[in-house]
Amino acid sequence: MSSCCATKPSVSAVCPRCGQKGKAVGEETPTHLLTKAALSKRRDVPYLFCRTPICEVVYFSADGVTVFRKSDVRVRVGLKETEPPIPLCYCFGFTEQDVYDEVKATGRCTISERITARVQAGECACEIKNPQGSCCLGKVRAAEKEAVACWKSRRSSAVLMY
Ligand SMILES: [Zn+2]
Repeated sequence: MSSCCATKPSVSAVCPRCGQKGKAVGEETPTHLLTKAALSKRRDVPYLFCRTPICEVVYFSADGVTVFRKSDVRVRVGLKETEPPIPLCYCFGFTEQDVYDEVKATGRCTISERITARVQAGECACEIKNPQGSCCLGKVRAAEKEAVACWKSRRSSAVLMY
């Protein structure tokens, strides 16, 4: 699934803010996504991504000295947002709303199929566009499943009401 993305360095460290284990990112990911001001504070050490939704830290250095928060990153980090637009796919600009809209209109969602086709065409750039530095497809498929399940349950409860 992540064949379109380069192998990530294997550093291990916990977020200095929330204490959860981070996910290592290649150096190109923060390079492209940090603001100019944040980049000036960056040191030449490995960085990790914090996956905790309520933690405002996006990247932290493996030695725990430097942290970059949501305000230091140029894109909205979908995982850490609760208000739309919540980005799902950074390469092609799909949001959670796009998934829900399509499911609402058609009962299914073809966004992951469309993304797969473009990944196969070599058009993705997850390493530099997705804050996690990895492929979004797993998350898009999960969002599609959830949206379809939600749509079906709403439909059946609507039927029950009659
Ligand atoms: Zn954290």
